Amino acid sequence: MSTSVEPAAPALRIARWKDDAKAAVSLYYDDGTDSAFEIVVPSLLRRRIPGTFYLCCGWFEGDGAPKLERWGALARRHPEIVLGEHTWGHGGGTSAGGLADAIARNGAILRDMSGLPPRALLSFGRPGGCPWTLSPEEEAAVLAAHGEVLRHGFGPENTGGPEGLHKDVGMHAFEDARAILDRAEASGGWEALLFHGVGGDWIAFPAADHEKLLAEIDRRRADGRLWPGAAIAVHKYETERDAARLRPLPAPDGALAAAELAFGTDAARYDEPLTVVAAAPADRDSVAVEIADAPARRVAAPDGRAVFDVAPAAGSVGIVLR
Ligand SMILES: [Zn+2]
Repeated sequence: MSTSVEPAAPALRIARWKDDAKAAVSLYYDDGTDSAFEIVVPSLLRRRIPGTFYLCCGWFEGDGAPKLERWGALARRHPEIVLGEHTWGHGGGTSAGGLADAIARNGAILRDMSGLPPRALLSFGRPGGCPWTLSPEEEAAVLAAHGEVLRHGFGPENTGGPEGLHKDVGMHAFEDARAILDRAEASGGWEALLFHGVGGDWIAFPAADHEKLLAEIDRRRADGRLWPGAAIAVHKYETERDAARLRPLPAPDGALAAAELAFGTDAARYDEPLTVVAAAPADRDSVAVEIADAPARRVAAPDGRAVFDVAPAAGSVGIVLR
């Protein structure tokens, strides 16, 4: 009797999300509110969870300049605090030229304040409550020309605020937000949660519930269920992942496996490391990973699985597991 050979699980694969998490979540904070600065920022930093703060630099002119600069100081010092594009003055959506004007100067200031190179990609959060007649195609063309990326979409149920903000939907409390995390995990997808004020200012979400949400995200990240990533980081990861190809190669003598990871994106702009997952023999608690010409590094392999990052490079890089 012949035995059919089961197709083996691929020895290496690109993880759907960073660290092989089941799902991704991004936290958006619009308008650079004082309550976001005073309540959200310390909490994100304590838990090392990233957030994207969408700023209109024109709102901080003159006497407000120190309040803008304090955001820049945070962004330069802490990778968790990421600044996003919200247009110069919360508008610009009625003509392509108007949008270009509204983001060119704002984007240059945001990159400069954040210590980013002039070509760095920025996440764009379209301002609400102002006229927006540009078509999605017109908007996309202006954003692309300015190195900006429309942020991942979200519905009213993903929008934090007081009861009554969106009739019966909307995040009014921790339980509403937790349901969105559950939905992300169930779909293996990416959810974005939007806040303005937290515990104060406008469209305020309760501070205690926000704190519970961050604790929940922290727990789910520790369990390997959730990747909380900044908006632009998750965009980069997704774009790189979908354009990359991982091709198995014959393993050199004594090696466990080998592969070539070919990147399909511009490594200068799409610089988020990709997570690769490798099957490891059950009797090994770690494997040595060689990437390109870098010295081998030891990666823990609990449960027959080694998870490691590969930095994007021009062309492709070789990976050998020993
Ligand atoms: Zn806004």
